Amino acid sequence: MAHKVTIIPGDGIGREVSLAARRCIDATGAKIEWEEEIAGQEAMDKYGEVLPKRVLDSIRKNKVAIKGPITTPVGKGFRSVNVQMRVALDLYACLRPCKIYKGVKTRYENLDLVVVRENTEDLYAGIEFEAGASRTKDIIKYIEKASGATIKKDSSIGIKPISIEASKRIVKFAFDYAVKNKRKKVTLVHKANIMKETDGLFLKVGREVAEAYRCQVEFEDRIVDNMCMQLVQKPELYDVLVLPNLYGDIISDLCSGLVGGLGIAPGANIGNDMALFEAIHGSAPKYSGQNKVNPTAMILSGVLMLRHMGEGKAADRLENAVSQVIAEGKDVTYDLKPDRNDPSAVGTSEMADAVIARMKH
Ligand code: NAD
Repeated sequence: MAHKVTIIPGDGIGREVSLAARRCIDATGAKIEWEEEIAGQEAMDKYGEVLPKRVLDSIRKNKVAIKGPITTPVGKGFRSVNVQMRVALDLYACLRPCKIYKGVKTRYENLDLVVVRENTEDLYAGIEFEAGASRTKDIIKYIEKASGATIKKDSSIGIKPISIEASKRIVKFAFDYAVKNKRKKVTLVHKANIMKETDGLFLKVGREVAEAYRCQVEFEDRIVDNMCMQLVQKPELYDVLVLPNLYGDIISDLCSGLVGGLGIAPGANIGNDMALFEAIHGSAPKYSGQNKVNPTAMILSGVLMLRHMGEGKAADRLENAVSQVIAEGKDVTYDLKPDRNDPSAVGTSEMADAVIARMKH
């Protein structure tokens, strides 16, 4: 029976990379019935809202979705469609595998690590209070009284909620992922030496969860600043990293840099019974409509999706084909050429054609 999958093409370069990924996924032979929905500016023009209810309904029904990047206009007042989706569907785990494919320009060799980022709370929850507003002054007074600390009167305030429930489920997710994918070690990243209550709780809960996996997966923790240095100096020591939302955001971009950049870094947002797959990169509006950018991140997001749906063989076939095309270095986009102005670079759809041709061999 065919899998039903919601596809949201996105905008900017979104449609180009989504179409390329869709063609590659179909060419694996996995049976997929696509249900296309639009979000972002296109949906605003057609339905009067950036995230119509029908998009969320479609994902809730099909349980699996793949999405191209969506532009968040700066200063127009609406919240990122991407963040809205993650919150509305409670996609609490953000998964970002970072692996070096032969032929990609990087400073490192043989890296294969996975970043698991908590997606719903922390400073990223956006609970903020403007400097000078009367409710901010009230909050400052309350905090000063409750904590004994002094806060400058002209401060803005941001809140960092870290809960037992969300910490437990993300660390458990990281361990379950490690077991399922035969990974050896989970490293929990924090700043509990300074943020003793919030990060301290994340670490305490993490240690408790780790106990249950003691015989299967090694566990360690690292302070986030040290982690940054370690990742630059000896990233090969790490396997699965689990982090609260804000550190996860920063470290996952750092890790995508270690393995060759945004053009090849896939991602997934996963909840209890739903998953949304998407590239890490954005809609790169300056390249929109040029058939120029690299479809690999979106295609590899499709590989993650196929694995999630139990289509392991199709996923392997697609990942091998991508990896061969990159290693050969001929039918690849400009960013994968040693010289970015190399006239032999191919376009988005031609690189997808090369991947599809590899699968037919
Ligand atoms: P971006 O990732 O769109 O682009 C930054 C640069 O990275 C590009 O100029 C390009 O040089 C390179 N790049 C990105 N994707 C590439 C690809 N596939 N192949 C080759 N090179 C690639 O980041 P930005 O410019 O900060 O954001 C543009 C818009 O995208 C913003 O509106 C932002 O809010 C949105 N965005 C959306 C998502 C999402 O939908 N998940 C994620 C990030 C940013």
